[in-house]
Amino acid sequence: MGSSTARRAAIAAMTNFKTIAPRVNYKTTPLHEVYASNVFNEEVQRQRLPKPVFKKLQQTIKKGVAIDPAIADAVAVAMRDWAIEKGATHYTHLFYPMTGITAEKHDSFVAPTDNGGAVLEFSGKELVKGEPDASSFPSGGLRATFEARGYTAWDPTSPAYIAENPNGTTLVIPTAFFSWTGEALDKKVPLLRSMEALSHQAIRVLRLFGDTTASKVFTTVGPEQEYFLIDKNFYWARPDLINCGRTLFGAKPPKGQEMEDQYFAAIPERVLACMLEVEQELYRLAVPVKTRHNEVAPSQYEIAPIFENSNLAHDHQMLTMATLTKTADKYGLACLLHEKPFAGVNGSGKHNNWSMSTDTGENLLNPGDTPHANAQFLVFCAAVIRAVNKYAALLRVAIASAGNDHRLGANEAPPAIISIYLGDQLQDIMDQVESGGAKSSKQGGHMEIGVTVLPKIPREAGDRNRTSPFAFTGNKFEFRAVSANQSIAGPNTVLNTIVAESLDYIATKLEADKSAGKDFNKSVQKLLADVIKENKQVIFNGDNYTAEWHKEAEKRGLPNFKTTVDAMPSLITKESIALFTKYKVLSEKEIHSRYEIYLENYNKTVTIEAQMTATMARTMIIPAGFKYQQEVAASITAAKNAGMTKAALADQELLLAEISATVSSLQKATADLAHVLEHHNSGDAMAHAKYCKGTVIPAMNTVRAAGDKLETMISDDEWPLPTYREMLFIK
Ligand code: ADP
Ligand code: MG
Repeated sequence: MGSSTARRAAIAAMTNFKTIAPRVNYKTTPLHEVYASNVFNEEVQRQRLPKPVFKKLQQTIKKGVAIDPAIADAVAVAMRDWAIEKGATHYTHLFYPMTGITAEKHDSFVAPTDNGGAVLEFSGKELVKGEPDASSFPSGGLRATFEARGYTAWDPTSPAYIAENPNGTTLVIPTAFFSWTGEALDKKVPLLRSMEALSHQAIRVLRLFGDTTASKVFTTVGPEQEYFLIDKNFYWARPDLINCGRTLFGAKPPKGQEMEDQYFAAIPERVLACMLEVEQELYRLAVPVKTRHNEVAPSQYEIAPIFENSNLAHDHQMLTMATLTKTADKYGLACLLHEKPFAGVNGSGKHNNWSMSTDTGENLLNPGDTPHANAQFLVFCAAVIRAVNKYAALLRVAIASAGNDHRLGANEAPPAIISIYLGDQLQDIMDQVESGGAKSSKQGGHMEIGVTVLPKIPREAGDRNRTSPFAFTGNKFEFRAVSANQSIAGPNTVLNTIVAESLDYIATKLEADKSAGKDFNKSVQKLLADVIKENKQVIFNGDNYTAEWHKEAEKRGLPNFKTTVDAMPSLITKESIALFTKYKVLSEKEIHSRYEIYLENYNKTVTIEAQMTATMARTMIIPAGFKYQQEVAASITAAKNAGMTKAALADQELLLAEISATVSSLQKATADLAHVLEHHNSGDAMAHAKYCKGTVIPAMNTVRAAGDKLETMISDDEWPLPTYREMLFIK
């Protein structure tokens, strides 16, 4: 479909849009009845499981007690009966392989009987363990294909649910995926391990503060998802969007986002209808979506849930992305989750709001109202600051991808330099802590900073800073450099692990002081001052977009890895391996396999984009250039034949020459790109990645520049691709 056909179809789709009646009318079925209706949640478990089984399962979910295999059969039976009542014929172990998306293989409950009939069966064994033939998932060398066995294991802490389809429903069981030698092949296993590591260390710190009731600390996450919705007719006419998720060509439109008239603007009717259905689907699955709004770029939107524990937040985030994509389709829209679908307007991120919470419900990054809680808060806060400073490079690795390279470092997303924003008030308190004394406003004068006199911190600790990659926002940290289409498992695994290491460091010091009989208040005070002193270089409260900050950061020695290729070696340093192995989050083998997978992913992404760029140039854009060139040439000849003088035709000949020169430079650039791709390096993954970064991407950029130039010159009728001004504004 050419541009003008796609454009007409999109306009028709838009103008003829009729509201699709929602599946549920909230007037007759209130939201709270819809909510969680497809989830095998605590309430359903209570109703359907024998009491002792229910209790044991809850112990695992809420307290992290190891699952008792003996309860599996009882849970399976209850789950099956519940699912069948909901119309399910099949079940699936859903897992989260290193592709970054979900994977599923369905099996039916059907078991034939001797008399030619069938019964529906589902055993504890089937619930607990699955064995997908998993040879085709990236393993980074952990498995050869001939020993491709991978296992999925039931994750009882993420409830099973029903996935609906107009023709039937399926029981979905979230699982962890690992090799037969026990190595993690997925994103969930390391995330769960990192949550346990953090819990263990956080409890040590809490005990020092006299907390004897909390038995587990959960990390919590509320991920804000940005995305684009464009008309599906445009999408189908853009091979780059279909195959690469982003536009590889597209001249900057006259109007982009400069009017700032998009952010929080009224949501278009069709888009809102789509959002309402997305939310309804997610409510059924107990995904607590809360916020919707227009984002900064044209046709860009955001959806955000209420935070949950990291594991559940991760599973729900994957469901959110899948539901957005699936539902958009019904409304004639394409949901683009890529970090940078369009050059020149904002890309999409996923702000990862993160905190730690006890099983007794206390948010450990909440400044609190009492001086006691306040000191504890400062210790946890300092642990995060230390972690981010010490392991900034690993955080950078956790968000590195070919797509996110387009965002980080451009003047719209946080830069690739990882720093922390504390806000004025918290900064002030940290300054006081560092200098060892707080001025008590009540009594005046300068006094020793005993824990009991630490200043009270207001809940809204200071201003907003939209440019910081890692900002304190009142009672949580917001890791803002995470990208829109990436799984949040990786960034949270790193975050949990590095904070666990800091809490370990802090607990070890304080415990030693305690056994040496030192005064706890003094120990805390000294420790805080030391941690701040040693790590304050990572704190920056100014504008992260400025050149001054880049210079300043360099002076401070903060790492600035501009691309994935620069960042990735930090994953396999001695320090990184020591960290992940010490807290049993990743083994050395697993780290290396991930390193390979990330680089392969980068290489494949760039290569596919480069091939698509060359294909589009050759088969769509260059031919369009020729057609227009022919039209202009024919017009000049006709004018000459009609008696126009050469002088009168000078400008037209100039145009012809310019078109011809642009087409030629596009041809040349395309030939160069093809050449570069033919001579593709076949060395190791890193050598290949360096080649992609240093040679392939620049060659691709040259092709794009020529193609985009041509777009601004030739007849709109001849242009084969939907343009930015159409895709972003016809909605
Ligand atoms: P903001 O205006 O600072 O972005 P919101 O209240 O809108 O704050 O929250 C943004 C996201 O942060 C939401 O997903 C919210 O649930 C999440 N959030 C709030 N508190 C926490 C917490 N303690 N841990 C993790 N995420 C949280
Ligand atoms: Mg926010």
